Amino acid sequence: MSAGHTPTALITGVAGQDGSYLADLLLERGWTLHGVAKPGGNDGTVNVHVEQHRVDISKPGVAQVLIHEVQPDYVFHLAGISSVWRSWNDPVLTTQVNGLSAAALLDACYTEQEASGKRIVLVNASSAEIFAGSGVPLQNEETRVAPTSPYGVSKALSHNMVQVYRARGLEATNAILFNHESPRRPETFVTRKITKAAVAITRGTLDTLELGNLTAERDWGWAPDYVDAIAAMADYGKGDDFVVATGQAHSVADFVAAAFAAVGIENWRDYVRSDSEMLRPADSARMVGDAAKARDLLGWAPTKDFEQIVDAMVQFDMTEEMAA
Ligand code: GDP
Repeated sequence: MSAGHTPTALITGVAGQDGSYLADLLLERGWTLHGVAKPGGNDGTVNVHVEQHRVDISKPGVAQVLIHEVQPDYVFHLAGISSVWRSWNDPVLTTQVNGLSAAALLDACYTEQEASGKRIVLVNASSAEIFAGSGVPLQNEETRVAPTSPYGVSKALSHNMVQVYRARGLEATNAILFNHESPRRPETFVTRKITKAAVAITRGTLDTLELGNLTAERDWGWAPDYVDAIAAMADYGKGDDFVVATGQAHSVADFVAAAFAAVGIENWRDYVRSDSEMLRPADSARMVGDAAKARDLLGWAPTKDFEQIVDAMVQFDMTEEMAA
């Protein structure tokens, strides 16, 4: 940005894990921040220095009005139904919220940029799930888009639409995010469900942890690192696609073992039951990303490994339990 101009950014999904970390990061840079959070959500998770807009951007016309009003230099589209599990129960809502909101936002940014002549940069949270059926052992930006869940399809729509608007002249980027975790992760994700349960079992407030597929392997990273990558993409100067991943895969069982070990339980199998009711109609056996492009072009690298991520989440949940 030119000297003296304080950038204005709009973050959709500002109350979520990634949105809240990104808001913290950009406020530290001194940027002016606007945030979109879903109507009726919880105010407590949004940084007080963010100007909030409680609107549904998947509804016709809403994104256009918002972009015209806020006049952002940067738009970070992180809002959406983030749970693959939930997408099987709510496929239509997932398609609307994740797919249509991206289309609406991209079109609003393009239209505003055309009308005002002022550049707008957009970074979209795409997802590893777009590669779930690709069949390749290590996924990168060239991997075939082959989703296997309603969530994956909705993210593929957003991913392809970013590429369409990039070709049209918008500086639009896909951050292809592999799983990324933190204490701000809700319990709808397996990692947080496990760390909270491990702590509850040591405290005697829970007997058994019920999980679904224990053999699935995921490439789990540290959410604040992934938000750093998203910010670096905005700074990069041109639209592109970037995989953000650690390159290391671990199974759900590995995660359970590490979390239980962190609270001093070695015989975790005595406390865990695998419930077939919790299996998904389709579930990728193994997702691992190759982030060489982000490393080479953005200078990005993860700062925490698997054990450190598990430990940080367990430590947080231990303090929470004590405070409760
Ligand atoms: P996802 O990779 O984006 O779907 O992230 P999740 O954390 O929801 O799931 C990661 C993996 O854990 C998937 O293969 C799930 O099938 C598996 N899994 C096993 N048990 C559970 C569970 O109780 N909850 C969730 N969310 N996932 C589970």
